Amino acid sequence: MANEFTYKCVNCGDSFPNEGILYLCPHCSKLNKSGEALKGVLRLVFPYALIKRKLELNANYLEENNYLCLLPLKSLSSLPPMQVGNTPLYKVEMEKNNSSSVYLKMDSLNPTFSFKDRASALVSAFAKENGIDTIIAASTGNAGSSLAGICASQKQKAIILVPENAPKAKLTQVLMYGAKLIPVKGTYDDAYDLSLKLTEKHNLYNRNTAFNPLTIEGKKTVSFELVQQLKGAPDKVFVSVGDGVILAGVYKGFEDLLEVGLISKMPQIIAVQAEGSSNLIDNLTREAVFSPAHTIADSISVDIPRNFFMARDFLIRYSGIGIKVSDQQILSASVDLARNFGVFAEPAAAAAYAGLSKYKSENKIGQEERIVVLITGNGLKDIGSVSSQIHFPEAVDPNTYHFQ
Ligand SMILES: *Cc1c(COP(=O)(O)O)cnc(C)c1O
Ligand SMILES: [Zn+2]
Repeated sequence: MANEFTYKCVNCGDSFPNEGILYLCPHCSKLNKSGEALKGVLRLVFPYALIKRKLELNANYLEENNYLCLLPLKSLSSLPPMQVGNTPLYKVEMEKNNSSSVYLKMDSLNPTFSFKDRASALVSAFAKENGIDTIIAASTGNAGSSLAGICASQKQKAIILVPENAPKAKLTQVLMYGAKLIPVKGTYDDAYDLSLKLTEKHNLYNRNTAFNPLTIEGKKTVSFELVQQLKGAPDKVFVSVGDGVILAGVYKGFEDLLEVGLISKMPQIIAVQAEGSSNLIDNLTREAVFSPAHTIADSISVDIPRNFFMARDFLIRYSGIGIKVSDQQILSASVDLARNFGVFAEPAAAAAYAGLSKYKSENKIGQEERIVVLITGNGLKDIGSVSSQIHFPEAVDPNTYHFQ
């Protein structure tokens, strides 16, 4: 039954069969103009009624099947040999005398140290099943370093386009994993446009976020894991948002489980953006107007959210909310996470925790609520951004040094 799915366009609602590689909706993508949000992003629709019946006969069906029936794969053995996902969920105490529980979902522990590995793994596996050996992607840094690492583990070639100013650690990863790195003069959008040109001209397989619908499907697995780890759905999930693919993935995962009757309510999702890069939250209720992004959190610094329509639809349909945090709040959250819990997160990941702190200062949280914060990337990926928060002590003379 694996591999039975259709594609459905988020804009026009048309459906398409699973026949070969499909990126955007053929009807809507013609309308895309540079400087506008991507139209025609596709969602995958699985045979939910059938899976639901199987679950009624065997409550453990999905776990025994390792969720394969909800993935666009023939076999789980196509996935990378490394462990992607199945990351730990740490319960932490934000303050005493509060019975609500806060959990950190540690996706910074993925093989290349970011959440992006979930999407890269699925795209890579799909390529393997379809006899494709080269994958191209434009990236602000993490998607590229992720694809490079995942491809290395699968003996596939990766071509990574990044804006020339991407953080050094992420570029170092790309090169260490042996991918072809193409730094592009200009922004992520310039790298993105060039990647599409190369994809068409050289007939490559493309992993660009949202453009390739499997990026959303790969990211949804975090919701399956949360439901397993918490033995039910959490109440709230704080997600940092750039292009809105993690956000949509989280929703899609829970929605798949709602469709097959495994959970009965959608958690409330809180989309956290940087004040200087809030093009999703600012455009929830109006004709979209996008502004250039400026934030230290490079992984969520996005001029045009590539998954704008799907992310907005989900937030509105399920009463999710948006929260904006300042760069200073993001830096404080990084320090908090590191000092209080030993979790060193990159700024884009700390943003989700900053969102929770801000939410708590303005709202009451129910006594028994279970709250998840996605830790999407590792702090070592961008040490420059926290340099203002630390002070390197001067070296001491070991002969005269007295500890105080
Ligand atoms: C990509 C990324 C995000 C945001 O994901 P989107 O799908 O672009 O919204 C958040 N945190 C980290 C560390 C990332 O790499
Ligand atoms: Zn369409």
